[in-house]
Amino acid sequence: MSYTIDDSLFVNIKGYIDQTVIDIINASPLLCSLLDNYKNTIGKSIEPYDSTTIGGSYSPGGKTLTFTSETLTPSHTQDFIRLLAHELGHFYDDTQGGLNQFDYGFLDVYNFF
Ligand SMILES: [Zn+2]
Repeated sequence: MSYTIDDSLFVNIKGYIDQTVIDIINASPLLCSLLDNYKNTIGKSIEPYDSTTIGGSYSPGGKTLTFTSETLTPSHTQDFIRLLAHELGHFYDDTQGGLNQFDYGFLDVYNFF
């Protein structure tokens, strides 16, 4: 499906991003299908994390997608989309049995470029 800023997925980051960012997500059927999967199986909003660094995370324990407040600012939309795709990849991996645990432990921190 395609999304609007008012979707429950974005309720906790709505103060940071706007519909122009959602339109970029909507332009990718693959990104939308991963978000659909996340929404339908987990049902949580994407979360902000107050930080001046660029970064995101997927928590296999809490099933939470989190992005730093800096990443969510309009000047870093490219980073947000890039990291959203990356973290949704971890979510997908988690649904397949979490085969890529190394990345969770050692690489899934802030400031990967
Ligand atoms: Zn990662």
